[in-house]
Amino acid sequence: YALLEQGAPAEDAVCAAIRVMEDAPEFNAGRGAALTSEGIVSMDSCLMTGVDGEVGSACGLTTSKNPINVARAIKEKTKHVMFAKPGDNLLKEWGIKLCDSEYFITPARQESLREAQSNGDEWEKHGTIGAVARDASGNIAAGTSTGGITNQMHGRVGDSPLPGCGTFANQSTVAVSCTGIGEAFIKVVAAHQVSDRVRFSGENVEDAATATLDEVAAHHGDGGMIVLPAVGRGVVAYNSEMMNFGYRSAQGGKVQG
Ligand code: ASP
Repeated sequence: YALLEQGAPAEDAVCAAIRVMEDAPEFNAGRGAALTSEGIVSMDSCLMTGVDGEVGSACGLTTSKNPINVARAIKEKTKHVMFAKPGDNLLKEWGIKLCDSEYFITPARQESLREAQSNGDEWEKHGTIGAVARDASGNIAAGTSTGGITNQMHGRVGDSPLPGCGTFANQSTVAVSCTGIGEAFIKVVAAHQVSDRVRFSGENVEDAATATLDEVAAHHGDGGMIVLPAVGRGVVAYNSEMMNFGYRSAQGGKVQG
């Protein structure tokens, strides 16, 4: 929010907020990312700006300290949209800070993996992080960063890095970042669906988010999303038991954790 107050673009604020959460081991992204069935991290990220519809996305990252910086580099330094497992040399060329696996793997995540492998429960907790922001010029952006789902199969990719599924921004509608069972969010193209509902059905942002989550539920998924329109109030919606979130605006802020 401090960046936005200084007049920085929305994507700067989104990336700054996401980096804080990637660095905190409590969240399922960056340090403390969920572990795959092989006990390693495989992180995904996406950053999209509404004003130009530009997007960068990466999946299968194992060494990038801040996966959101990789998404941003792809968006800004290449003519492509999505990279799977970009090599360390390329990451270095993009100025990405790299870390060894010990940095990412925490005892808490190892314990969650052991539990998931002994219960056969792969889908218990989420913890993906996301941010949406609107800057002083009214431009919106969305970003998402995740370690995926504990005990996910090697090579599995969820909704988070897929533009339109876990992350989307369109200046004429909304910026969206989702969390939850990625397969269900992919099947209903969740983030884009919210935008389409606003754009073509004229639904208000809250109804669009709720109706989309109903479709996610119909595909046996739960989770939530943060949605910020180019004009008007943002919405936090979820059909999971709970979702942690925080927001700040000129009118004040709130953190629910
Ligand atoms: N949506 C993420 C995925 O499916 C997981 C999560 O939100 O926790 O990879």
